[in-house]
Formats: sequence, structure tokens, C-alpha cells
Amino acid sequence: MAQVILENVYKSFQRGSREPDENRAGISSGSHPTAVLRAINLTIQDGEFMVLVGPSGCGKSTLLRLIAGLEELTGGNIYVGDRLINDLPPKERDIAMVFQNYALYPHMSVYDNLAFGLRRTMKGRQKTNDRQQATGDRQQDPDLIQNSQLTTYNSPSLPLWAENLLIFSTRKLPKGLRYQSEREKMIEQRVREVARILQIEPFLNRLPKELSGGQKQRVALGRAMARYPQVFLMDEPLSNLDAKLRAETRSQIVKLQRQLGTTTIYVTHDQTEAMTMGDRIAVMNAGQIQQIASPLELYNRPANRFVAEFIGSPPMNFLPVQFKAPLLITHPQFRLTLPETWAASLQRYDGQTLTLGIRPEHLSISPPAPKNLPVQVELVEALGSETYLFVRLVGANATSPSLQARVESDHPVRIGDQLWLSLAPNKIHLFDNKTGQALDPR
Ligand code: ATP
Repeated sequence: MAQVILENVYKSFQRGSREPDENRAGISSGSHPTAVLRAINLTIQDGEFMVLVGPSGCGKSTLLRLIAGLEELTGGNIYVGDRLINDLPPKERDIAMVFQNYALYPHMSVYDNLAFGLRRTMKGRQKTNDRQQATGDRQQDPDLIQNSQLTTYNSPSLPLWAENLLIFSTRKLPKGLRYQSEREKMIEQRVREVARILQIEPFLNRLPKELSGGQKQRVALGRAMARYPQVFLMDEPLSNLDAKLRAETRSQIVKLQRQLGTTTIYVTHDQTEAMTMGDRIAVMNAGQIQQIASPLELYNRPANRFVAEFIGSPPMNFLPVQFKAPLLITHPQFRLTLPETWAASLQRYDGQTLTLGIRPEHLSISPPAPKNLPVQVELVEALGSETYLFVRLVGANATSPSLQARVESDHPVRIGDQLWLSLAPNKIHLFDNKTGQALDPR
């Protein structure tokens, strides 16, 4: 286990000269480097579960691949523990990566899939490294990364090829007649332990094609775990699973990570996954980290409008408002006085337009009042436990944004109804219109 430090990391890709330039309406502009990651600074503590979350294309997978050693850094440093790993090949990083598409060996049983990395690990560190350096190939399977704990195993007296030959040629015999070296016994112990934790013991003799998606994903996790790496990297490992299995496997991964205490970096574009799994979350957008914080901190105190909109489901509502010192907020359809705690931080915004943010769960159906929002209901989604209302401000022009409110399910609301919504005063967010930065009420 180890701390991972990303220090001022940059990554650019050279785009091909024949590739259309997305920013120039398809006009080819010749080969040029495009920055996909900029000034990434992030420390993941030893044993921490860190989630990287952000929209498609923001650079999450690229960052993970840089840590794994599958891409070359353009700038900056990456440390695992106190080792600078910038130039180390993947196998020497002691990192295991789990991908979205499982990447299991189809012709091997589950047992052999789990044991594969362990068997390769014990082949001898020097030989493997020499070969990899000679090929210069950075696109190696990170599953073959060395595991420092396993290298403490004493070399067998038989040459490895002879041992493997004996293992494979006797493996179909009754158990007592099978050849099993000390090395293989150790591997079996590890494989069974991992299979027990992941509840895949009944499938050890099956081929991957005989497993469901969730079972395959557990095998892929098990294969990474079996080597007890210093760091796990997981790239959207649940995205091929259906909703129920996804939720189940999500909690299994969290439980496992707590049990093993292995530093984990988990990539997802799904904010629910991020919120439920991470000790901390790094929210990314357009190649940059927007905020690093615990799930609740992100929800309660988003640093900017992007984070406010990305974290929380359904997303936060936004409305342009005028601010008048000391504490008055006005909008053509409502006016309200903010709590005292805002006075100091809003002083310099007197007379300016700000963006007010309010989450759907912080709007509630209330009696008419100047401080409340008069709205017309456009859509009702009754989920049983709660109801989502899609509403529009009464009297606002047609281009004004639709708002969402989450209300208790026992309110009898129908499409076309006109009602009043109040804003929970302590749950209001305000953002600087020019920078998008959140203003702090304290
Ligand atoms: P997703 O959630 O869709 O997987 P992501 O956040 O993981 O997205 P990346 O895969 O890291 O995003 O890609 C970030 C940006 O880098 C994208 O614009 C992508 O097109 C670009 N990119 C990724 N790999 C390469 C490459 N090998 N060559 C050129 N551009 C690349």
C-alpha cells in the first residue's frame, strides 16, 4: 500500500495531420499537440479510495493510464510511495488495473485467470524487465505488473518450464496425483482466498464464457487483487453491468477495498457511483481538476458552477438574480432576504447580477408569498417514494430555464397546476457570474 502523488501533471496528444480539427468545423490544420490534461495536482493517501469523476472526454482515463504507465507524461511527476515512477515500465510500478471490458483470457478457467498474474510474477523480475525495456512497449498488460510481496518467494529447485510442464500435464489427474510445487501451493492459497472474498469459489473451474457479466467482473477484480498490488486503478469497471448488479458490485468493491486497505483510484462518469464509493472525489472538466473533496463537501459546498451542476441528481437549478446590499436578492418573479452569514462575502457585489443555485430537494410547495417562486407544472414524475416536478416560472419568457423540484409523494400535483415554491434559505448557493466561482456564505 502506498500514497500516490501527482505533481503538476500535463499530457498532450499529437493529433494526426489528416484528422479534422474539432474546434475548426472540420478544417484540417496539420499535426499539432492538443493538451488533454493540465496542471493536475492530486495526492491520494495511503489506503484511500479516490474517485475521478467528470464528463466524457475530460481526461479521466488518460490520467489513469499515465499512472499505470500506459501513456508517457508530457510534464510533471508521479510518485508511488516515495518512488518517482515517471520512467518505470508498467510492470515495475506495482499497480494493478481493472478495465471496463474485463479482459479475461477466454480459453482459461476462472482459477487459471486468477492465478495467471501470480504465475507470471514469479518468473523472475530481471528477465521480464529486460524484455520489456528491449521492446520499449508501454502498452503492456498492467495485469503483469510485479508484486513485491511475491518476489520474496524462494526459487523452486526445478526450472520453471519443467515445473509448469508438470503442473499442466498432471492437472486433470485426481487431486492426490497432481503435481503441486511450493509455488503452486502458495498461488492456490491466494486464489482461493480471493475467490472466497469475491464469492466466486463455485465458478473456479468454469470458462469466462460460462459466467454472467457480474461474475466476469468479479473475476477481473480478483485477478487484480490476487497480487496484492500497492495501488488499484479501476476504469469504469461497472459500466457493462445492469443497474441491479451495478449497485451490488459497487458495494462489494467498497467493502473489499476497506478490507484490503489498498490505495485505489477509480474512474467513472457516474456521479452516483462517485458519491457512494469515494472517500474523496476529484471532479474533472476539460483536462483540469475542478475540486477535490469528500462527497458531502462537494454536495454542500461546490467550488464552482460546474461542480454544483455535475454533483447531485437531479442537478441543481440556476437562476440569474440581482443583488442589493446588504442582503436582498431580486428576480422579476420573487425577492428574498438572505441569511446574515452572507453579508461580508457579498458586499462587493452590490448592484450586480449573480447566479442563484438551489437543489431540487431544497424547493418545497408553500403558500403564496413575495419570497416564493410562482410556477406552472409542466411534467410530474411520481416515483412512489418521492415526486419530481418539472416547472417553469409563471410570467417568465419562454426561454427561461425549466426548474426541477423534488417533493413528497403525497402532494396531489398535476400537469398544468400553478403553485408556489419556497427556497430553503440555508441551502441557497450563489455564484460569481463572470468566473463561475462559488461565493462563500461564511
Ligand atoms: P470517457 O469517459 O468517454 O472515457 P475520459 O474522461 O476518460 O472519457 P479520455 O479517454 O482520457 O477521457 O480522453 C481525453 C481526451 O483525450 C479526449 O478528447 C480524447 O479524444 C483524447 N485522447 C485520448 N487518447 C488519445 C490518443 N491516443 N490520441 C489523441 N487523443 C486522445
